[in-house]
Amino acid sequence: MKQTILDMEQYAIDYNVPIIEKKSIAFIMKYIKAKNIKSVLEIGSAIGYSAILMASSTPDVVVTTIERDETRYMECLKNVKKCEMEKKITVVFQDALELNLSDDLKYDLIFIDAAKGQYTKFFEKYKHFLNPNGTIITDNIKFHGYVGESSKLDKGNLKSLVEKIESYVDFLKNNSEFDTKFYDVGDGLSVSTWKK
Ligand code: SAH
Ligand code: MG
Repeated sequence: MKQTILDMEQYAIDYNVPIIEKKSIAFIMKYIKAKNIKSVLEIGSAIGYSAILMASSTPDVVVTTIERDETRYMECLKNVKKCEMEKKITVVFQDALELNLSDDLKYDLIFIDAAKGQYTKFFEKYKHFLNPNGTIITDNIKFHGYVGESSKLDKGNLKSLVEKIESYVDFLKNNSEFDTKFYDVGDGLSVSTWKK
């Protein structure tokens, strides 16, 4: 598995795939262990890097991961196989905003790491699949340090993307159902749990 992980890191550089930062995935793996998380739903598999590392956190955690890009989905399947993780990881080839999961599926952890402009939509759709003690973690909450600085950016795609992440941060801060903590690790993580 170690070599496959290294190969994936190189592939991500060569093909410009935005895989998670090492410090962030280390944080999530620690969280999975500490909270004894058994099931994870990931939105945005890319090539399977974070899914494989999350699945390797403990012997019994299983991961379902969703990816809409066919090339990345195929690459993800290949990597899951190479790591002999087929029993622990289910890869779903679909747009997460179109997918209809069965209502009785529930997860201990939902990891949002797909299109940054759609974070609020993912959160609102997938919170219904979270266990009562479950957690939603979101990656790239700082987006290279631009979040909070959108007013300084020129009009364009970057500005509008950053504004969307800023509005997601506000959405989390003002959420009546969830408490959220923000962590300055890697590209920024948020950790949301149901209010008690
Ligand atoms: N979690 C991965 C990186 C994911 S990059 C890792 O750290 O290793 C984000 C991925 O989300 C991209 O591959 C992109 O194709 C996918 N994506 C974006 N929007 C999506 C959507 N609506 N449904 C499914 N996948 C999506
Ligand atoms: Mg990310």
